[in-house]
Amino acid sequence: MYNVNSLKAEEFIDNQEILDTIEYAEANKNNFKLIDELLEKARPVKSGDGCVCKGLTHREAAVLLACDDKTYIEKMFKVAEEIKEAFYGNRIVLFAPLYLSNYCVNGCVYCPYHMKNKHIARKKLTQEEVKAEVIALQDMGHKRLAIEAGEDPVNNPIEYILDCINTIYSIHHKNGDIRRVNVNIAATTVENYRKLKDAGIGTYILFQETYNKKSYEELHPTGPKHDYAYHTEAMDRAMEGGIDDVGLGVLFGLESYKYEFIGLLMHAEHLEAVHGVGPHTISVPRVKHADDINPDVFDNSIPDDMFTKIAACIRIAVPYTGMIISTRESEDVRREMLKVGISQVSGASRTSVGGYTEEERPHDTEQFDVSDQRTLDEVVHWLMDTGHIPSFCTACYRAGRTGDRFMSLCKSGQIINCCHPNALMTLTEYLVDYASEETKEAGFKMIEEELKKIPKETVRKTAEENIEAIKNSNRRDFRF
Ligand code: SAM
Repeated sequence: MYNVNSLKAEEFIDNQEILDTIEYAEANKNNFKLIDELLEKARPVKSGDGCVCKGLTHREAAVLLACDDKTYIEKMFKVAEEIKEAFYGNRIVLFAPLYLSNYCVNGCVYCPYHMKNKHIARKKLTQEEVKAEVIALQDMGHKRLAIEAGEDPVNNPIEYILDCINTIYSIHHKNGDIRRVNVNIAATTVENYRKLKDAGIGTYILFQETYNKKSYEELHPTGPKHDYAYHTEAMDRAMEGGIDDVGLGVLFGLESYKYEFIGLLMHAEHLEAVHGVGPHTISVPRVKHADDINPDVFDNSIPDDMFTKIAACIRIAVPYTGMIISTRESEDVRREMLKVGISQVSGASRTSVGGYTEEERPHDTEQFDVSDQRTLDEVVHWLMDTGHIPSFCTACYRAGRTGDRFMSLCKSGQIINCCHPNALMTLTEYLVDYASEETKEAGFKMIEEELKKIPKETVRKTAEENIEAIKNSNRRDFRF
């Protein structure tokens, strides 16, 4: 029985409710009066200095997703863009994944780390190797990482993950810093989530892979990940352990996208209902080719235009949530996705264990094929060319603005006086310390223009002074 407040996976992700929603959406997909009302409801509305957005329920959003009328799809894209602009402006946050270990005891059929894969080289970074990877990442200009590991209680116990986090935060090479470590590791206990929280992590990310229990069990035939309830209830345990920034995602291509879309929104509604705060981020990965994995065997692959529509509908339904697109996707796909609400992208990613210290992109321990293989400098320059401010900001969680405090900043419209200058200051750091001459030139031009948009004079003045200080000294890490 569907119950958004229940702590039981099968009640807050109720199969029947998803099937009924698919049916309801199908019945209403040409109900343009309803669709107009929904788009109107979802639009940002001015409120004081800021804006508010109502979002949509999973039932309402499913109607938008089902609608295949071209004119209405264009309208959806416009509303998604308006929402992104209202809450996140033109900033795009950059990060990179750091693969710590590909040892894994699970049997996930789409992942090359699965236990039966005997030809993939198994590797786990030592702390010295973590240090070398972090230096390579800092030398590119990265400030924010997402650490990744397979699930293996012997090779990758929580103590190993915690050691790696400590190592990462302790390294300051030249003017480099990793200021936010997000963590993407298997579902674990409340006690372990508390340890991660105490280690100072940013977001705890866990992809659901699929919300469909039957498919989930088939796709995860062996290992601890087989337990659907334990996996699906992980975010509740993470919240109980004190982590209030959690990141959801499904691996598109495994199951029907309609089912996944509704499941994802029901999960977001559940977190909001029970913990008072929805997901900090939603990721939208698609299954890729990998060692021992042929994505064509999964018959739910989605074409690019549907993928963009899914992203737009997520943006409309969950307006305050950050949305992430990785280098699994090509430059072209990422460009389209940026238009409909993506707020974070990875850059120059290597999905192999120890990949950043190798000259050539190594394949032997790689998790999946990377489509966008540009350097960080190329991605930064491209973002600016497409009208976005590349941001290396990590200020919010370091200033305690996590969970509902981040969301209220978002809703109050203060982002323009806070995130905007932070983005410009961290971009300055990047330009001064790491950028090519062409990127520098384009970047400083952009910063000059963007500074003018800061409405509060005191904030603008401080930002300008800080930017000058970054240019003329080794002083770093200014933030509002
Ligand atoms: N081991 C952790 C867990 O069980 O959730 C997560 C770490 S794994 C390195 C990160 C994510 O990569 C997985 O959650 C999965 O969605 C994704 N992934 C696995 N195989 C993939 C493939 N062939 N193509 C694209 N993404 C894949």
